[in-house]
Amino acid sequence: QLDLLEKKSHGTNHEPNIHDIVENPQKFEELFVRHVETGLGRSMYNCDNLAAYQAASKTIRDALVLDWANTQQRQTIQDGKRVYYLSLEFLMGRAMDNALINLKCETNTRNSLRDLGFNLEDVLDQEPDAALGNGGLGRLAACFVDSLSSKNYSGWGYGLSYQYGIFKQKIVDSYQIETPDYWLKYSNPWIVERHEIQIPVDFYGYVYEEIDPNTGKTKKNWSGGERVLAVAADFPIPGFNTNNTNNLRLWNAKPTNEFDFTKFNAGDYQQSVASQQRAESITSVLYPNDNFEEGKELRLKQQYFWVAASIHDIIRRFKKTHKAAWHKLPDQIAIQLNDTHPTLAIVELQRVLIDLEGVEWDDAWDIVVKVCAYTNHTVMLEALEKWPVDLVGRLLPRHLEIIYDINYFFLQKVQKLYPEDRDLLRRVSIIEEDPKSVRMAYLAIIGSHKVNGVAELHSELIKTTIFKDFVKVFGKDKFTNVTNGITPRRWLRQANPALSALIAKKLEDPNYNYLTNLGRLKELEKFIDDKEFLKEWDAVKFENKKRLAALIKSETNVDVDPTVLFDIQVKRIHEYKRQQMNIFAVIYRYLHIKELQRQGVSIEEIKEKYYISKASIFGGKAAPGYYMAKTIIHLICKVGEVINNDDTIDNLLKVVFIPDYNVSKAEIICPGSDLSNHISTAGTEASGTSNMKFALNGGLIIGTVDGANVEIAREIGEENIFLFGNLAENVEELRHKHFVEGVHVPKTLQKVFAAIEEGQFGNPDDFKALVDGIRDHGDYYLVSDDFDLFLDAHKKVEKTFGHHGGDSDDPAHLQRWVRKSVWSVANMGFFSSDRCIDEYAEDIWNVEPSNI
Ligand code: PLP
Repeated sequence: QLDLLEKKSHGTNHEPNIHDIVENPQKFEELFVRHVETGLGRSMYNCDNLAAYQAASKTIRDALVLDWANTQQRQTIQDGKRVYYLSLEFLMGRAMDNALINLKCETNTRNSLRDLGFNLEDVLDQEPDAALGNGGLGRLAACFVDSLSSKNYSGWGYGLSYQYGIFKQKIVDSYQIETPDYWLKYSNPWIVERHEIQIPVDFYGYVYEEIDPNTGKTKKNWSGGERVLAVAADFPIPGFNTNNTNNLRLWNAKPTNEFDFTKFNAGDYQQSVASQQRAESITSVLYPNDNFEEGKELRLKQQYFWVAASIHDIIRRFKKTHKAAWHKLPDQIAIQLNDTHPTLAIVELQRVLIDLEGVEWDDAWDIVVKVCAYTNHTVMLEALEKWPVDLVGRLLPRHLEIIYDINYFFLQKVQKLYPEDRDLLRRVSIIEEDPKSVRMAYLAIIGSHKVNGVAELHSELIKTTIFKDFVKVFGKDKFTNVTNGITPRRWLRQANPALSALIAKKLEDPNYNYLTNLGRLKELEKFIDDKEFLKEWDAVKFENKKRLAALIKSETNVDVDPTVLFDIQVKRIHEYKRQQMNIFAVIYRYLHIKELQRQGVSIEEIKEKYYISKASIFGGKAAPGYYMAKTIIHLICKVGEVINNDDTIDNLLKVVFIPDYNVSKAEIICPGSDLSNHISTAGTEASGTSNMKFALNGGLIIGTVDGANVEIAREIGEENIFLFGNLAENVEELRHKHFVEGVHVPKTLQKVFAAIEEGQFGNPDDFKALVDGIRDHGDYYLVSDDFDLFLDAHKKVEKTFGHHGGDSDDPAHLQRWVRKSVWSVANMGFFSSDRCIDEYAEDIWNVEPSNI
């Protein structure tokens, strides 16, 4: 069978495969025209960029689908262990550009499109982002599926196909406005709709007992009251330098056209039809909260819908080969739970095994725990999922019973281990008593064989804070760390073609093989004293800054000079991420410049002695219901209005807010930074991944001792990162001090508050909650404690950067700044998501890459 596959992948298929297209531009053009004329029903004479994008995508996708089908066949024949990555979010961004890179057909596609009268960049620009995620968590899942394919694992993603992705952000009169992201408006050429894969998913209903005719024992059964169909939409995930092409399967909710009339009396008929129509609402919209749980019924429905369909699909695939050999399940399947969102998979798998497949409870539970593993993403209490027991019982009556049973057996075990510690039972119970709710993280820990955090500091913190009691019960070996990573295909090669090419040249690696062996970046250290190389490196940065300046101009109409320091903070807006501290520091700087001017100090002298020129660049979405985050955006915009219109300060300072931060914009923003801010209150940011993206693109970091900043510092050297601020171990004490003694606001920050309250940046009432939250309400995120340290760190940044940010050959800038940039990139190899996937594979999944 494998021989047959081998032949097929070498082109005995009738359809052209990806190699035909890469090697034969004429073939590409022929297929392109066919898609335009017959697929889209248009003529080549009125083929615009959008049609060209669709036809080019279809051409490449069709070829890719053959690799994809071959991969699935090979994986079935090889019958190795498969990994399933369950994530409620996949923040994929654009597919076409990435496919061209992973399949190495960018140059040929560019040339073919040129011959057909199109410019590749304009064509790529037509693609809307697949923005099915909020931020770091969803983008991590996207990087992981890329690495699973690129490293030849047999690994699928399972998620939901939301009709509306994360909202689009507009800035109107300095306020955030949300508009819907209907990303499927023109249909998506990268999706393979699998209408034939339809899985019924039930909700509500009741549980009854019956005698099992085979065993004579009584068994439980669930009769659902509302049925919805899960229909598969597949995204082929191409790997880099391999034809291993995995699948990302996203579920769509559709109404069924069958239902059991006997369950409905005549009066319920209309109601039942209406509820069928409501089915599609389950996958209509992504919840737009990042690191915050809202607890809405529809969200729990989404979770169960997705989990039930995925488990069904996974089990169906297992049974095709292994029938009912359930003991083999842990050798065949690993399920990774990305956060607690898919925790019901644990319960659903147990239910399928005991209720539907007749496996004994203990045997089933042993299997479930061996199969599942859970990744924790936060220690912040507001983000930890809890579902009211009443709601779970109504929506999923059988699952609630199983949860109670899991809890009962678990607490028995705890009681045996610690008979003296009665309070421990209350603390570790899956069920919280007041208000009565299901603690999803606890259920996830109990139902998994491994629990991992996403950076060393975070993984240590979960063991000493929120999950401390579970370390006592299970021992510390159940808890592990896998520091997050990013795919260098998208975040270096795709986002930064010039830098990735320069690196390829220096590594003498014309095929870019270093992109799957990122440790090779280390070889760049050899060139650290090569002045010509440093200049070349700096010139690439300068071009990328120009590209970013053009984006800023088109998005905000503000001109920023690409020779000034680009000081960037882009990420979801959150009090814990402390964009407020950043904008307060910008205000402080502006007030100081104005003060110096009043004292008669000239702009030239200010530049000489006090401040270098810089642009403060912000971006990020606020959750629609998050007032404080929206206030921060409003303040940034108002400050920008004042500063950008002050023509007495030359180009010393500009402040911009780039609207609608998303993956495509991140691909332009990350390569264009000199400095990026990762300044969360210590202990709050689990890892962060944009810190890695900026550093891999040669930007330096100003950051707190938090998340993966710690490991970045270790890898690249502390002298190459601007770390500042209080440490995680002191946070509790400082908060307590605020509570007891009140908050001490430093003089610098008092000046900023005074300017805001005087109305220098618009109506002070608009910012009252922000200022009062710090000064009068305990300053939970420790802005007052870190503010002066932040200003000091900025002084160091400016001294290091010097008065230069262009492509001149200022020796001081090259020696001080560019050298750090090169050294950092040389030591960023650790942060490839390929390394993450290898670690998960070895420590958690116990799988090996498949033999291609
Ligand atoms: N949003 C987008 C669009 C991203 O590309 C990233 C990248 O990591 C993030 C959010 C996460 O950023 P951070 O790690 O700074 O929270």
